[in-house]
Amino acid sequence: MWFLQRLRATFGTLSTSSHFHNEVRVRFAPSPTGHLHLGGLRTALYNYIFAKSHGGRFILRIEDTDQTRLVPGAEEQLQAMLQWSGLCADEGPNQGGEFGPYKQSERLNLYKSHIETLVKSGAAYHCFCSEQRLELLRKEALRNRQVPRYDNRCRHLTSHQAQDNRHSGKPSVIRFKLDVEMDLFEDLVYGRTQHDTHLIEGDPVLIKSDGFPTYHFANVVDDHLMGISHVLRGMEWLTSTPKHLSLYKALGWSPPKFAHLPLLLNRDGSKLSKRQGDIYVQHFKDAGFLPEALVNFITFCGSGFQENRELRNMQQLIQQFSLSQVSTHSAVLNMDLLPDVNRSHMIHLLTNQKGRCRLISELREKLAKLKTEKEDGSRGETMELKDEYLLKVLEARKNHISRINDLCQPDYSYLWLRPDGRREDFIAVSENAEIILSEACQEIEGLPESVYEDVKELSAQLRRSSDRLQGVPYAVYMKVLRLALSNLKRGASVAEMMSVLGKAEVVQRLNASVQSVVQDTTGSVSR
Ligand code: GLU
Repeated sequence: MWFLQRLRATFGTLSTSSHFHNEVRVRFAPSPTGHLHLGGLRTALYNYIFAKSHGGRFILRIEDTDQTRLVPGAEEQLQAMLQWSGLCADEGPNQGGEFGPYKQSERLNLYKSHIETLVKSGAAYHCFCSEQRLELLRKEALRNRQVPRYDNRCRHLTSHQAQDNRHSGKPSVIRFKLDVEMDLFEDLVYGRTQHDTHLIEGDPVLIKSDGFPTYHFANVVDDHLMGISHVLRGMEWLTSTPKHLSLYKALGWSPPKFAHLPLLLNRDGSKLSKRQGDIYVQHFKDAGFLPEALVNFITFCGSGFQENRELRNMQQLIQQFSLSQVSTHSAVLNMDLLPDVNRSHMIHLLTNQKGRCRLISELREKLAKLKTEKEDGSRGETMELKDEYLLKVLEARKNHISRINDLCQPDYSYLWLRPDGRREDFIAVSENAEIILSEACQEIEGLPESVYEDVKELSAQLRRSSDRLQGVPYAVYMKVLRLALSNLKRGASVAEMMSVLGKAEVVQRLNASVQSVVQDTTGSVSR
């Protein structure tokens, strides 16, 4: 394979489609200039599900040729987020593969050999124009209200002039002779497309003065050498495609098929940006959203499916996706839908053993984090958190929460910490708190364990026991109990709390509350 790759690198004339027997090979090609956001995730996802729905391969290629814009750690972050989202590459920098390296900065020799081919054939040329000259051109164009573009001056240097310049060590870039006639092409989403690129830009740079290729050149060379059959990418690249097609032609290669995906927009129609809330995948992970929910949600706004806005897992996305269903409408993200989508996926996970284990360990992980973060500030003793208990909590609260993280909010701390209710807090609710609590203890200790399984029945029992505490309004009784059980003034119903905590825990908390109220009490308390 290594030999074949070199052969292709040197001659570059093998037709990819025949060579790869029409296998579907797609790539996600992020630049490590920032972290993965929802737009990138959607491009990666559509590539992934397209590949998998055709029994093809999903390739990750890191496009790091713009060395000035690299963000340290971004590459690792991109890979980690793809993995978290379930979009594991079949070939890539970490996975390896027959067509590597999968990082452009490690493929410089390949670009070098192909640029030589283009220069030799006269399709590309060295340009020695200085930055100052280009700047002057730009300024002049702007002054004349024209689109700034290179005037292709160095196209007309003789080979002797170019050679002399190079021998005298003049810095240069290599440019591509852009055709005046640009071919029409058939985009799989946008249909017949044509852009007269030469009208808006001069000959594009293929190799920069630092010896690195530009995106356009590296992208074409790599898509060809990696046997990419379909390029699915954001529509911001649609106008660059004719330029890419001209390059394929000049290199004597047959191009892949192109499908440009409509832009992802905020609800108000603006381009997706951080200004309207966090858009980074990491943010959604940290906020406790499930990857399958985020991935599903991303498909809501666009298209590619007969029915939009359906709950689908990855398998269903793969089965039901069709490129022909992708429309050219911009895809508007309605973030308000995400919590509900997440809740539905969470409820679905609770229906199977594997899903339950996953949620339990995720909850445990978040709680451990919470504990380290709160080491000093929180009041109360930490409970022993057995798997059965965590599952019980998840089952009991599944319709009330939309993310696991909701369970880490202060309102739910009673589920993990035994409250250390203070006498003054109880007295603030009722000056008869001590009597109420000790009678409640007896009442509640007398309730059979089985009642805890049924919130309605438990509620009815509480009402009955309240009636027995003559003179104590039901609302006050509930307030005292809630405080004893949770340290909270409002929140879930007392019966719900009791049901989740279970009899032993409830009794323990009530007894502890009696103790804390009794302390320092002098004199009797009248009703
Ligand atoms: N590196 C380009 C980007 O990050 C890839 C565009 C393409 O898929 O061709 O947008």
